[in-house]
Amino acid sequence: MRIPFIAGNWKMNTTVSEAEKLVFEMLDRLDRTQAVEKVICPPFVSLVAVNMMLQNASIKLGAQNMHFETGGAYTGEISPLMLKELCEFVILGHSERRSYFGETDEIVKRKTGAAFANDLKPILCVGERLEEKEAGKTEEVVSQQVAAALNGIEPHSSLVIAYEPIWAIGTGRAATGEQAADTIQLVRDTLAEIWDKGIAQDLRVLYGGSVTSANIAEFISQPQIDGALVGGASLKADEFLSIVEQTATIKGGTE
Ligand code: PEP
Repeated sequence: MRIPFIAGNWKMNTTVSEAEKLVFEMLDRLDRTQAVEKVICPPFVSLVAVNMMLQNASIKLGAQNMHFETGGAYTGEISPLMLKELCEFVILGHSERRSYFGETDEIVKRKTGAAFANDLKPILCVGERLEEKEAGKTEEVVSQQVAAALNGIEPHSSLVIAYEPIWAIGTGRAATGEQAADTIQLVRDTLAEIWDKGIAQDLRVLYGGSVTSANIAEFISQPQIDGALVGGASLKADEFLSIVEQTATIKGGTE
């Protein structure tokens, strides 16, 4: 039984005081929705403040990136050791990191290994570009990214994978539930090949890309889709709350 999972990726948005305000607005209602695992991923500078606000809550905290080394001369970077005191999750391999900051499959793999080694739970992002989709290469690209990030790493049941077609991120042009479910099945097939069948069935695989309160139901009603990684809509308290609450209802929660 996979627990539904909704994560909010705030990206490079919110100052510390804005982050505190947003958490304050969502805290009670989000906390009450117990049937879903809820994770918010604010910018690094807000992690300490938000961690303090979430001390007695069921809402979990994630970072948006990290370095693969635990420490050293890497000016400006944040290590897994620093994060593990503050959060449980870390987003890795987001397409914005891959395209704007030169993150290769090899770097994503090192980060994934480092997250496991430091008891952080990675939310590993994979997804194809528009040209790749149009060239019929979605399956090839996505399964290659999954394999590249995980091959040679011991299976870990704490991994969460987010399938995020790049053409759907921040564009308002979401995939259909069926498209997303088909690719997520492929992610599970790849996991079964490189890790094992049992773990492939147990891991949560999310959809991400222009998810809102208006379309979450389409994704979450697909049995293969365990939740969503939400960007823009996670910055609006009402939107994020509605996404989490609809997920709890549709996936059979009691709320
Ligand atoms: C994301 O950044 O992971 C994302 C899915 O963004 P958006 O929901 O804004 O498309």
